[in-house]
Amino acid sequence: MKCLVAIKQVIDPYVTIRVKSDNTGVETNNVKMAMNPFDEIAIEEAVRQKEAGNITEIIAVSIGSAACQETLRQALARGADNAILIQTDQVFTPLAIAKILKSLTEELQPQLVLLGKQAIDDDCNQTGQMLAALLGWAQGTFASKIVLDTGNTLVDVTREIDGGLETVQLKLPAVITTDLRLNEPRYISLPNVMQAKRKPLVMRQLSELNLQLPTTITTLQVSPPPKRKAGIMVANVDELITKLKTEARVI
Ligand code: AMP
Repeated sequence: MKCLVAIKQVIDPYVTIRVKSDNTGVETNNVKMAMNPFDEIAIEEAVRQKEAGNITEIIAVSIGSAACQETLRQALARGADNAILIQTDQVFTPLAIAKILKSLTEELQPQLVLLGKQAIDDDCNQTGQMLAALLGWAQGTFASKIVLDTGNTLVDVTREIDGGLETVQLKLPAVITTDLRLNEPRYISLPNVMQAKRKPLVMRQLSELNLQLPTTITTLQVSPPPKRKAGIMVANVDELITKLKTEARVI
């Protein structure tokens, strides 16, 4: 069974985000990029399922600029068998990304598509759900446990919900999005990195897919959060309570 894993390149989560001076977006020039953390979990899960004998091939796919090759190489080092970069310098909304992934899914015929539950740059949490709807496939979102049956016809997905854990059974083919507690991605060793250099990474132009992609959302402005006021030291608990009552007015 083939598994497609969607990998988005985002600004490294440990880098301080700077908004461009013209407020049109976030500065990405000369900024360290990394794999979206939820996608690291998705690739790790695919590798674990392959090690368990449930998956035979893992294809990592990214949609973005040529620089995304670096992130796809990381996916190969983590255990993907091959990778595809759909090259474009345009930034797309989740619906357009879902349409691109749908086209690739129809071409490559995986039984399982794994995505992160959310990209940490746009925080949309939409692509997996939209992809499942466009394909007419079952979806299991925010997975904290994935159990594939031995016949590869069903998959049980445990999801963290407000009241506890919910387990749903999906008929394959299916789309699953990963939550934080699904697994802990392994450390990538140097031999893995070297091996990844020899694995196939195909670059394709987005125009080759001949898709009509919607441009339904326009970003009007991006602004940094207001600066926090400096804190103050209080002498004792009584002073703290007085200040909370009279100045902050929160109690
Ligand atoms: P989002 O709906 O934007 O929060 O993204 C959810 C998930 O969709 C991500 O964790 C990725 O797995 C996938 N995804 C979003 N954008 C891209 C992209 N440009 N290339 C590949 N995968 C993507």
